[in-house]
Amino acid sequence: MARYIFITGGVVSSLGKGLASAALGALLQARGFSVRLRKLDPYLNVDPGTMSPFEHGEVFVTDDGAETDLDLGHYERFTGVPARMTDSVSSGRIYSNVLERERRGDYLGKTIQVVPHVTNEIKEFLAIGEDEVDFMLCEIGGTVGDIEGLPFFEAIRQFSHDQPRGRCIFMHLTLLPYLAASGELKTKPTQHSVKELQSIGIAPDILVCRSEHPIPDKEREKIALFCNVRKEAVVAAYDLKSIYEAPLAYHHEGLDQAVLNAFEISPAPRPDLGVWRDVVDRTHNTDGAVNIAIVGKYVQLEDAYKSIKEALTHGGMANRVKVNVEWVDAEVFDTQDLASRLEGFHAILVPGGFGERGTEGKIKAAQFARERKIPYLGICLGMQLAVIEAARNIAGITTAGSEEFDHEAGQKRFEPVVYHLKEWVQGNTKVRRKPGDSKGGTMRLGAYDAVLKEGSKIAKIYGTTTIEERHRHRYEVDIKYMDQLEKCGLHFSGMSPDGRLPEIVEWADHPWFIGVQFHPELKSKPFAPHPIFADFVRAAIETSRLV
Ligand code: GLN
Repeated sequence: MARYIFITGGVVSSLGKGLASAALGALLQARGFSVRLRKLDPYLNVDPGTMSPFEHGEVFVTDDGAETDLDLGHYERFTGVPARMTDSVSSGRIYSNVLERERRGDYLGKTIQVVPHVTNEIKEFLAIGEDEVDFMLCEIGGTVGDIEGLPFFEAIRQFSHDQPRGRCIFMHLTLLPYLAASGELKTKPTQHSVKELQSIGIAPDILVCRSEHPIPDKEREKIALFCNVRKEAVVAAYDLKSIYEAPLAYHHEGLDQAVLNAFEISPAPRPDLGVWRDVVDRTHNTDGAVNIAIVGKYVQLEDAYKSIKEALTHGGMANRVKVNVEWVDAEVFDTQDLASRLEGFHAILVPGGFGERGTEGKIKAAQFARERKIPYLGICLGMQLAVIEAARNIAGITTAGSEEFDHEAGQKRFEPVVYHLKEWVQGNTKVRRKPGDSKGGTMRLGAYDAVLKEGSKIAKIYGTTTIEERHRHRYEVDIKYMDQLEKCGLHFSGMSPDGRLPEIVEWADHPWFIGVQFHPELKSKPFAPHPIFADFVRAAIETSRLV
């Protein structure tokens, strides 16, 4: 059975619990243990799939088709363990399961209560796959004291109580604010936060304290004494230049050792941190820089494109260059000329998105990249719009557009080069959707295979002709227009195995213009940059040498 590490937060939100969890996962792996990371979110949405990216940042999609919290992206990027549907749960999902069971009569007429019914549901979730790994790291979203979070805290308390002694530990993240006037780090908020935890029956074994200043020994002792943890289990978390320094930084501060001590694992296996040293070396020892424009809709909140930003950083690591990303708000350019704004960039990326706003601006970006021979990577909507651009400006289908925009506007204005697919094949099964299906369940979600054309640019980039990538979209490029577009030079270089769904397009006479229907950014890692991003950055370096 796995050992469980429950990770909670206090004092303020945004302390980097997700990053601390991911880094700890990587450190335990470096010591030879297997890990799985999980996120329990207190909000009432059943999953983040229907939340606006402005609200909640990116939706991270798993191979098995779950729409999950972006923290699962951190977990995967640090541990390389593919996240699963069962690694993310929200209060909404838990309550919806409980209510479904109640309607089915599973509770045999009992009164349904938070304790034990909701907490039991959470405990069942925690136990999934408990035999598969050495360590299960479970992060509780939000901060201790939040009303929505209470059932989760109660459930992890009970869970640890149900287990044999020594199988579960609690790690709590807090903040040590610095008062410039007195030149002091204050421990009181941490003490209060731990009291709050203790009042609900949880005694933390490890305290991770975010601090902008070195934590003096005296303060460490004080925290240990007042919060009832061992001194060496008070671990400092200082600000870092790059998130990828986190595993080495936490190791340096003794986090992994503190965890092994708490479980009384001794002798502790020695860690092999070579991979992380290499990642940090590639982050800091770069030769030159490239400037890449991301022409998107949710540019005010960078978290909305978290995985893309990280994948570009990984592409930079692969080439040992710094990648400067600039966000260009596509919506502004629906009605204005975009060319002058894009001047000087070494590559252009149009990411995924939903809805019509901003799409004319993105189409202009695709046209600019095609005409000026600037590297272009179109992801999902970014591919669909590149195809629409080709159809309008090269193939003469002047009213080319996507059904998505017509649906939104409630009238037919476009020739549907991109259309709403209602039936497709996943593995050996047929998937169907009907108009009126609930919003959460109508997308082509998760991992699908694609077959790449021999000799294409994309086949060279992958070094293979069969790939599997993650999807999240409702609309598809219609193969009805394939011949016409191929004659114009836009090659359909990757297709679904049944040949019905275009997965990749590329311009034959362009140095690097690729559109992909899937989300390659979700599988990129600092220690294994995704080949598309590695090659896209390489192409950007080439452009930078020309100017
Ligand atoms: N809105 C488009 C679709 O649903 C693209 C989705 C995306 O970019 N993830 O097909």
